[in-house]
Amino acid sequence: MFIRKPRSVQQKMTGVIFLVSMFVLVMTSLQFVFFELKHRQNIALDDIGSLSKLISSNAQFPMTIKDHVAVRKILNSLSARKDVASAYLILPNGKSVAGYSRSQNSHIRINSAKELKFLQVEARQIAEGMEQGTEQIWQEEDRLAYFMPISFEGSHVGYNYLSIELIDLRKHQLHLALGWLLAMGAAMLMTYLLSIRLQRHISGPVEQLASQMQQISREKRLVGFVPKETDDEFNLLFHGFDEMMRALKERDQMLERHRKNLEMEVQVRTRALETEKEKAEQATVAKSRFLANMSHELRTPMIGVLGMADLLRQKDLTEQDHKLVETIYRSGDALLTILNDILDFSKIEAGRLEIDSVPIDLIRLTEDVACLMDVNAHAKGLELVVRTSGELPIVNGDPSRVRQILVNLVGNAIKFTDAGKITVSLSATSRPTEGLSDWILVIQDTGVGIPPEVLSRIFDSFDQGDSSTTRKYGGTGLGLAITKELVLLMGGQVTVTSKVGKGSTFTVQLPMPLSKQSELPLFATEQPSSSKPSLLLKQFPSPKSALTDAPVVAEPVASGIRRVLLAEDNPTTQSLISILLQQLGIELMIVDDGQAAIDFLADEKVDLILMDCQMPKLDGFETTTQLRAQGLSTPIVALTAYARAEDEEQCLAAGMNDFLSKPFRQSELKDVLVRWLGADALSQTQAPVSVH
Ligand code: ADP
Repeated sequence: MFIRKPRSVQQKMTGVIFLVSMFVLVMTSLQFVFFELKHRQNIALDDIGSLSKLISSNAQFPMTIKDHVAVRKILNSLSARKDVASAYLILPNGKSVAGYSRSQNSHIRINSAKELKFLQVEARQIAEGMEQGTEQIWQEEDRLAYFMPISFEGSHVGYNYLSIELIDLRKHQLHLALGWLLAMGAAMLMTYLLSIRLQRHISGPVEQLASQMQQISREKRLVGFVPKETDDEFNLLFHGFDEMMRALKERDQMLERHRKNLEMEVQVRTRALETEKEKAEQATVAKSRFLANMSHELRTPMIGVLGMADLLRQKDLTEQDHKLVETIYRSGDALLTILNDILDFSKIEAGRLEIDSVPIDLIRLTEDVACLMDVNAHAKGLELVVRTSGELPIVNGDPSRVRQILVNLVGNAIKFTDAGKITVSLSATSRPTEGLSDWILVIQDTGVGIPPEVLSRIFDSFDQGDSSTTRKYGGTGLGLAITKELVLLMGGQVTVTSKVGKGSTFTVQLPMPLSKQSELPLFATEQPSSSKPSLLLKQFPSPKSALTDAPVVAEPVASGIRRVLLAEDNPTTQSLISILLQQLGIELMIVDDGQAAIDFLADEKVDLILMDCQMPKLDGFETTTQLRAQGLSTPIVALTAYARAEDEEQCLAAGMNDFLSKPFRQSELKDVLVRWLGADALSQTQAPVSVH
């Protein structure tokens, strides 16, 4: 039979109690039954023994005198005993004197002849000395037989054989067994019920403990533990558990307090940090605004210096005067370079520098830069070589920023090389599946080189190698920092290797998206518009709008020369533009502020408006907004000394069509005029200028 293994403590306890109790009970009751049986057996033996002795003592005299009648009488008296099965009195030679056997009401069938024969053999064997002539007891299945010699006054007179049925004994044994089984059944039931009750004393507290633990794990909190009051080891267990819970609770509360403290501390610190961050952001904004304002303030007079110097150097001057004007021009240009570097750097710091993505031909762009820089290299007696290799496809990128990187690196190479040559190598490998082309630009010089201790911080802002270099070569220490940031913004990297006295090698790696165009249209290439290379070129990228939306040239408002309105408060800019436009044969009207422009346009018509953004009374943005609201569709080109990307966006948002950053060179103004008025509009005849 398959007995399921107990699972719970309760079942185990019940099992243990039950088994132990049953074992003890069965063992003791079996012992009792055994002794009882033994005792009954002994009673039967005693009984048959004393009856045999009684018969023997009664029969000894009649046996001696061979009084067969008396002997028979003695045996017949046995009929009073229901359990006597058979009895014989035999002579020492084995001959039967008298016999008795119960046939009626007897449970067993007795074969008297066989029995007598057995007794004769027994008597003979005793007579022959083969057996002892003493009392003998035999037990058959259902009978007990007693065999004893009979003596009278010292002489052996015969034997007495008596057998009794053991029916009563067997009955008693049966009853005992049944009684025992019944008692065991009842005991089993009682023991089971008792063990169930008893085990509760042990399993009850354990269950309570287990359910408390379950509740704790279910509710995920340390509930108040109520220990059960007992006077045994469970009490210890409960109290131990209770103490453990209390300790855990206290620890939890301590942790909670600690967490709250930490949270508060974090909040306080976060607030402090936020305040600091706000302050820093405000400072950055203020710095950026200051730099933009400074740039504006410096750019405005620069237009006078550079524009006028540019105009002047085209005049017929003596050689000495030409040199003086050239010096003014170059100094102004150098100043503007620094100004632009500072502005770029502030833009990078403020995260406002944006990278354009238009199709560019990097080979042409590099050659342009080399062509520009060659003048400076040549002046120092250096050779400037451009090498290209590999597949060099048209890619998308920001031409002005790539140009800026090249100008910075090639410019430095020329600056820090006194003899030898500068090699600009260009190579590319395409990854068509990813739509990318990896460009490697290597600028190698044979210059002074960079000491190893400087090499590691060469790309940090305001770092200039060592002070002697600064003294000798000058510079702001921003060029490489800007270069690195630009390269990073384009997703590339720039590295340098150098040996003092031998030269330096700057390597720029740029991943550039492949352009869908296989060849560039001419207008999209950044070509210097004057045949004479100008250093100013690197500071003035072509306006974005010029590359993206080519404007439709407007019909002239009147036949004959074109009319342009200039809204500008700065007299230097006014006079520069008036000279330039006069030379180009365009009629120019000048107003000092936005309101004057609106008043003027109420009665007059012009072909193009050049609108300064920063003017007294009404600025360029507001003026444009009002003019557009009045339905004026004349193209408006913004003039601003703010060179930030958002200024350009603000101009376009106000309704202006184009953007010209101050200071601009003649060719750029000319480009704008051609773009909006058409090439035919420009002539060499002097045109009138009127100031309103
Ligand atoms: P700077 O305006 O001073 O040239 P850069 O950021 O362009 O600022 O360069 C930082 C410093 O790195 C320079 O002052 C110079 O010491 C060093 N350096 C840059 N390029 C070279 C080069 N090609 N050869 C030697 N030194 C160089």
